[in-house]
Amino acid sequence: MSRFYQFDVHMHTAETSKCGRIPAADLVDRYKAAGYDGIIITDHLHEEYISLLYCYDDWDTCVDRFLDGYKRAKKRGDEVGVQVFLAAELRFAENDNDYLVYGIDEAWLRAHPYPFRMGPVEFFRRFQHDLLIVQAHPFRDGNRFIRWDCIHGLEVVNTHPDHENLNEASLEAFRHQSHLYPLCGSDTHRKGQACASWVLLEQPVRNIQDYIAAVRQGAYTLGCKNETDQKILEEVARLRNKESAPTC
Ligand SMILES: [Zn+2]
Ligand SMILES: [Zn+2]
Repeated sequence: MSRFYQFDVHMHTAETSKCGRIPAADLVDRYKAAGYDGIIITDHLHEEYISLLYCYDDWDTCVDRFLDGYKRAKKRGDEVGVQVFLAAELRFAENDNDYLVYGIDEAWLRAHPYPFRMGPVEFFRRFQHDLLIVQAHPFRDGNRFIRWDCIHGLEVVNTHPDHENLNEASLEAFRHQSHLYPLCGSDTHRKGQACASWVLLEQPVRNIQDYIAAVRQGAYTLGCKNETDQKILEEVARLRNKESAPTC
């Protein structure tokens, strides 16, 4: 049987995201215990959350504080053998849409102060070739405004239990926009939310660029614990002509 590499690609640390309740090291331990190979930390990066970090107009201090959760998770991951990659969940001023942005690193953050002030159109125009941009939970709580031409992918299933994610609507959207990469994530903030979904990569990854390459090649399948959402992911797999994800 071929080996898959199990990742969760959407989660928050208590240190950086003020809505997060699980310290970074604890987060890593939970995924290690569940048998995951890696996690991607997607702490919030937007005006309101940056203001909660009390770094004011000092962007370098903002970056230090933003990276706190990721760096603690990475340290713990190195100790216990879980891969930990950095990303961010960006929100621009125009509305409450959230965009998972993969491919940033510390140097990128320092070189691009307050990237959430740019707006999604400008952001995509500038970074579409360097970053993977995925709209998170696009229909959450009745949202209907999708930036179809500013994203590479769509979080078809988000398993966060405290919101109406309307994942069925995301599936319908994917039927009509099947050139986008369909993804899923747990959006973990609290205990009981971790390890609820997974991206199974068909090849090993050493860093976030490998992850992006795997997504662009379509070399992955999706799965989750919740039965209703798992049916959505099975339909996504059928639309992609993929075997559905083996149960983990
Ligand atoms: Zn949050
Ligand atoms: Zn999130």
